[in-house]
Amino acid sequence: MNARVTPDRQVVIVGSGPAGLTAALYAARANLRPLLVEGLDAGGQLMLTTMVENWPGFRDGIMGPDLMTEMRAQAQRFGTEILESTITKVDLQNRPFTLTLADGKAITTEALIIATGASARWLEIGSDRKLSGHGVSTCATCDGYFFKGKPIAVVGGGDSALEEANYLTKFASKVTLVHRRDALRGSKIMQDKAFANPKIEFVWNSAVTDVRDVSKGEVTAIEVQNLLSGAVTEIPLEGLFIAIGHTPNTKLFEGQIDLDATGYIVTHEGTRTNVPGVFAAGDVQDRVYRQAVTAAGSGCMAAIDAERYLESLPHHGEAI
Ligand code: NAP
Repeated sequence: MNARVTPDRQVVIVGSGPAGLTAALYAARANLRPLLVEGLDAGGQLMLTTMVENWPGFRDGIMGPDLMTEMRAQAQRFGTEILESTITKVDLQNRPFTLTLADGKAITTEALIIATGASARWLEIGSDRKLSGHGVSTCATCDGYFFKGKPIAVVGGGDSALEEANYLTKFASKVTLVHRRDALRGSKIMQDKAFANPKIEFVWNSAVTDVRDVSKGEVTAIEVQNLLSGAVTEIPLEGLFIAIGHTPNTKLFEGQIDLDATGYIVTHEGTRTNVPGVFAAGDVQDRVYRQAVTAAGSGCMAAIDAERYLESLPHHGEAI
């Protein structure tokens, strides 16, 4: 009979945004001594935002990085061990699972919670990333409020761009939607809503080629090129929202767990993946809500699901 290989850990969490840190908090409080591997962008997308006004409990809002610092400290207070490293390889075919860290060290674990998030796509024109947080944003729900009475633009032609454009008309004086083709990708109902909104103006067949700040450090205009005629124009405005899609951070897991056609992890019955013992939480498995609070909620669910999974194992209770 083969002796069971004793894993290093009962549960490892990958990712340190609201989903990962909430999973860590709950797993730690369940005495699972979780190890959390932080990943490249420690703290996740909230580290890129300024004031977060939709996190319950802070009536005056809280700065994104401050919220993540608090979450991290809270998870550590109950015994989460945080590793400032990334995982470069996973083996989810054999048990216990093996995770290889950036320094080559391997960790084995009984259960794994994947909370690696999704990254908003950028235009990759240089000035868009440079002015991130200074008039350029990838999250209308987070930052729309800052553009009360100001002219802004949205780039993209999918449901996200249409939803954001509609939402932003609540604040902005005018929303220019710049799309690279002459037909929108978004659903008919969202298109109709956008076309009927008098505050939205469409600029078709066009690409944003530069974001200007005239050395003010805040957005003052965008440069737009018509892709058919080549003509370049400047649109004065104070904000640019990029809504050209998100990419879930799942490359590491390709071929090992079920992903949907766009790369998101497929979950069922809560946070379970198709591999027993592997759970997913937050934006890496959520293409719909993508909010910090929903990510945190699913992190809590993943920890509870992992705890129940561990309890169901025949060797539950043996020391690790
Ligand atoms: P998406 O459907 O992939 O649309 C991305 C849009 O950005 C497309 O119009 C695309 O142009 C454009 N784009 C991509 N790369 C670009 C670039 N480098 N420069 C300029 N434009 C670029 O992404 P999404 O809108 O985020 O939606 C993702 C999924 O979530 C979809 O299935 C959507 O239905 C769903 N969603 C649903 C809702 C809702 O139902 N309320 C809300 C948001 C999202 P092309 O059209 O030319 O490819």
